[in-house]
Amino acid sequence: MTAACAEAAGSEAAGAEAAVAEAAGAPARGAAAPTLLVTIHDVAPRSLAEVQALRRALLGWGVARATLLVVPHFHRELRLCDHSPTVAWLRSCAERGDELALHGYYHQQAGAPLGLRDRVRARLWTAGEGECLRPHDDLAGLLARGRDELTRCLGLVPGGFVAPAWLEPRGFDGLLSRLGFAWHETSMYVEALAGPGGRVRAPVIGFATRTALREAASLVWARALLARMLPRDAPARAPLVRVALHPGDLRSARVMAALEQVLRRAQAAGVATTTSEYLRARAGGG
Ligand SMILES: [Zn+2]
Repeated sequence: MTAACAEAAGSEAAGAEAAVAEAAGAPARGAAAPTLLVTIHDVAPRSLAEVQALRRALLGWGVARATLLVVPHFHRELRLCDHSPTVAWLRSCAERGDELALHGYYHQQAGAPLGLRDRVRARLWTAGEGECLRPHDDLAGLLARGRDELTRCLGLVPGGFVAPAWLEPRGFDGLLSRLGFAWHETSMYVEALAGPGGRVRAPVIGFATRTALREAASLVWARALLARMLPRDAPARAPLVRVALHPGDLRSARVMAALEQVLRRAQAAGVATTTSEYLRARAGGG
C-alpha cells in the first residue's frame, strides 16, 4: 500500500493540535514554550505498516512534524530503495514537512564490540543491533553508502544520523562530521555537527518492549521524565522534549496509551518540529 504520509488525518491533526493546546491552557508560543522533537525509529520495508500506523497516531495526537529514522538495508532483507511503497511513502512524508535521517545501514551488529564498555552497553541496550559499536574505519564506508543510496532513491540528502539504539563508539561525532552529517543524537542529547547549534542535553522519552520487565521500567522512567520536564499546573521546565517511537510500541496498549499522554501534553505545551529545523533556529538561522 502506498499511503500518503498525511492521509486524511492532516487537517484533523491541525484541529487536534489547537484543541489540545486550548484544553491544556498552553502557554503562548514564545521563548518559554518547549520544542518537541519526535522520532520514529527503524523505518524499513519490513516495518512499513507499523511506521505508517505510528505516523497516523502522531497526526491524531496533534504532532504535525516528526523525524523518520531510515535504515537502507534492514537486517540484510529487502533493500529500502528496491521497495517502491516505502520509497513513495517516505517521499510524501518529506514533502509534507517531515525530516528523514539515516539510522545505521543494516541495523545489525557485526561481531562483538571491541572494548568492555561497549560490550556491556550492547548487552544491556540491544538484541544484537549495536551496529555502530565497531572500529570507525569499518563504519565510514557503510554510512557513506547508506546516505548515498537514500539520496538517490528519496531525492534528498539525509543530513542527520542516529545510531541504532543510540549506541555510538567514542569519537563518533568526529567521524560523522568528517562524513558531512549535520547533526546526530544519543539517548541523552542532540548535537549540531556543523555550525553554531551546539549540543543540547535532553534525555529521550522512549519505551522498551523487548520484555515485560523492561516495558514496566520504561513506563516508570517515562512518567518520571515527563513529570520533571512538564509538571502539571506549572510552566514547562525543559526547553526541549524528545520522544522516540519504535514499531514494537504498537504491540503494547500500555505503551501506546503512555505515548499518547506524553505527546498530547508535550504538544500542548510547545510545538513539534524536526531536528534540523530546531538546530537551525537555535543557531539563529530562523
Ligand atoms: Zn533502531
